[in-house]
Amino acid sequence: MMDIIHLLPDSVANQIAAGEVVQRPASCLKELVENSLDAGASRIQILVRDAGRTLLQIIDDGSGMSETDVRMAFERHATSKIREAADLFTLHTMGFRGEALASICAVAHVDVQTRRKEDEVGTRLEIAGSQVMRQEPCQCPVGTNIRVRNLFYNVPARRKFLKTDQTELRNLLTEFYHIALVYPKVQFTFVSNDEILMELPAGSEKQRIEQIFGKNSSKSFTGQLVDIKSDTEMVSIYGFVGKPEMAGKNAQQYFFVNGRFMRHPYFHKAVLTAYAGMLPNDYSPSYFIYFNINPSSIDVNIHPTKTEIKFADEQAIFQILMATIRESLGKFNVGPSIDFDRQGEIEMPIPSQNGTTTMPKVTCDPTYNPFRTSSKTYTPSGWDKLYGPLSSQDTHSASVVRSESPMDSKTDMEQEQMLFEGNVTDVSVWQYASRYLLLPVKGGILFVDQRRAHISVLYQQFLAQIAEHKGAMQQLLFPEELALSIDEMKLMQTMLNDLRAVGFDLEQISKQAFSISGVPALLGGENAVSVLKEILHNVLETGASVGQQWQKSIALALASSAAMPYGRALAEDAQRQLLSDWLALPACKLTPDGKKVAFVMTDDEIARKL
Ligand code: ADP
Ligand code: MG
Repeated sequence: MMDIIHLLPDSVANQIAAGEVVQRPASCLKELVENSLDAGASRIQILVRDAGRTLLQIIDDGSGMSETDVRMAFERHATSKIREAADLFTLHTMGFRGEALASICAVAHVDVQTRRKEDEVGTRLEIAGSQVMRQEPCQCPVGTNIRVRNLFYNVPARRKFLKTDQTELRNLLTEFYHIALVYPKVQFTFVSNDEILMELPAGSEKQRIEQIFGKNSSKSFTGQLVDIKSDTEMVSIYGFVGKPEMAGKNAQQYFFVNGRFMRHPYFHKAVLTAYAGMLPNDYSPSYFIYFNINPSSIDVNIHPTKTEIKFADEQAIFQILMATIRESLGKFNVGPSIDFDRQGEIEMPIPSQNGTTTMPKVTCDPTYNPFRTSSKTYTPSGWDKLYGPLSSQDTHSASVVRSESPMDSKTDMEQEQMLFEGNVTDVSVWQYASRYLLLPVKGGILFVDQRRAHISVLYQQFLAQIAEHKGAMQQLLFPEELALSIDEMKLMQTMLNDLRAVGFDLEQISKQAFSISGVPALLGGENAVSVLKEILHNVLETGASVGQQWQKSIALALASSAAMPYGRALAEDAQRQLLSDWLALPACKLTPDGKKVAFVMTDDEIARKL
C-alpha cells in the first residue's frame, strides 16, 4: 500500500499559517508597524487604501535589511530577534516568532524596498503568494518601505469575511492607537485614501494621548488627565486617568504592559473600584495605564493575536492599582482654591439655626507653617488633614503602596497652604436635612456628609481594635448560623483571628457552617450574618486576602453597617463630637472606600451667586 503522508509545499503551509497571524488588514498593519519599531525607526508613515484591502504601505527610517536578510525575512520562522526558546522570556522587541512576513507574503502581493545605512544601494524584492517574483538592487532611502497589495487575493473566503471599509478602517486605527500610545517618541503619520487622518509628532505619553484623542472627540483630554504613579518592587505603574467629570459612556480605556497593549478585565475592575461613588451609574472613566514588570512574572501569551496577559500577582497588583488611582483622584479632589492671603480673622455671613444671619468668628493662626511636619499632625483640631493629600493609610493597601511622596510636586505644596487652624468647639456647627453637617472654615463653608464621616471614624476604630485585639463583644441572645460556600469557608478560617479580635464570637459547627454567638458591640445585634457575608464577599471579590488586606475589608464592612443612617437628627454635642473625631483622622477627605466626605463652598463661589 502507498504511503499517504507528505509534507505540504511551503506556499500552502504559509497560507494556512497566515490565517493565524493575518486575519484582517488591521493585524497586518500591527505586524508591519511592530517590525518598523523593532528596527529602531523614529518616523513611521502608514498609508492605506480602501481600508487596507487594496493597499497597506509602511515606510520607516529604521535599520533596513541587507540583500540576503530581506530574502530570508520572508521565510517561515526567520527572525533576527531570538535564537533559542529561552530568549522568549526576556524579549525586548515586539515581534519574535518570525512568521509575520512569511504569512503576509502568502496571501498578498508584497513589494519591499530596503537599505541599510552602510550600503550604497538598496534591495527591491517582490513576492506574491510566497513566490519571489523579482529581486534587484535599487535606489532608496535608508529604512524599509513595504507595500502589501490585494490582501487575500488568493483566499476568497477571507476576503468575504472582511467587514465594510468603515469597520475595517476603524480596526486599523484601533491597532494603530495601541501602538502609537506606547511609542510617543516615534513620529507617526496615518494616511487613508490620500487623506491625512493622523499626524503625530514625537512627544510625551500625555501629549500623544492629547494628539490622538484631542481633536476628533467631542470631549478633549487636554487638561483633563490626572497623573498616576506607583513604584513597588512588584510592579511599576504610571499613566493617566480621566477626571471624573470626563467620564462617559464611550470612555477610552487602555492598559499596556512592558510596551504592549493588553486587555485585563480584572485590573479594569480595580480602576472602576477606585472611582466608586464618583460616577453616575453606567458611566465609565477613561484611563491610559502603563505597567512595567519583570517579564518573568507575566505570561505573555505567545499566540499572535491574543491580548490577554496573566500576571503572577494579580490580586496584589489590583490593590496597588486601585490605591494609586484613588490617591491621585484624592489629590485632585481638593476643593476649589481658597484665597489664603487673607489671614487672621475672617468674618462671613452664615445662616444660624433660627434662620437669621449671624457673624461668627473663625480664628486662624497666621504663623502656621504648612511645611512644618511634626507637632500638628494628629491634633484633634487637625484641620490640616482636611486638605492634606490622601494618606496611604486610608487606602486598602497601605502596606504595599509606595507611591510618589505627596510633597514631591509644587502643586501639592500649594495645596498644603490651604490649611486652616481651628477648633470645632469655637465655631457654629449645624445640621442640614438630617444628612449634612455644615461649619464655617477659612474662606468658605464646609459641607460634611454625616454618614460618610461616621463611617470613616468607625473604620479607624475597628482597625485599631483588630490591631490591638480589643474589640468589645456583645453576646447574642440566640446564636445564629452562618452557612458558607467552600471558598468562603477557607477564607473564614484564615480570617478567624481578626474577626475574633474585633468582637465576633464564632465557632465552626460543621464542614460548611459557623455559629455566631457574639458580635462587635459597636455593631448592635441585628445584622451579624449579612455583615459577615459581606466581608467575605468583598475579600473574595477584591482579592484583599493578599497581605492581610482583609483587615481593612472587615473594618469597612463593620463601619458601613454600624454607621448612623441618613435622616438622623443629631444634637449639637453629637454634631461637634462627630466632626472633631472625623477631623482628627489621619486622612478624612475620602471614606476608606473612596467616597468624598466633604467639600468647601468658597466665599468666591458664594459671592458669585449673589
Ligand atoms: P519577527 O518580527 O517575528 O522577527 P517577521 O516575519 O515580522 O518576524 O520579520 C522577520 C525579520 O525581518 C525580522 O526579524 C527582521 O530582522 C526583519 N524585518 C522585518 N521588517 C523589518 C523592517 N521594517 N526593518 C528592518 N528589518 C525588518
Ligand atoms: Mg515581526
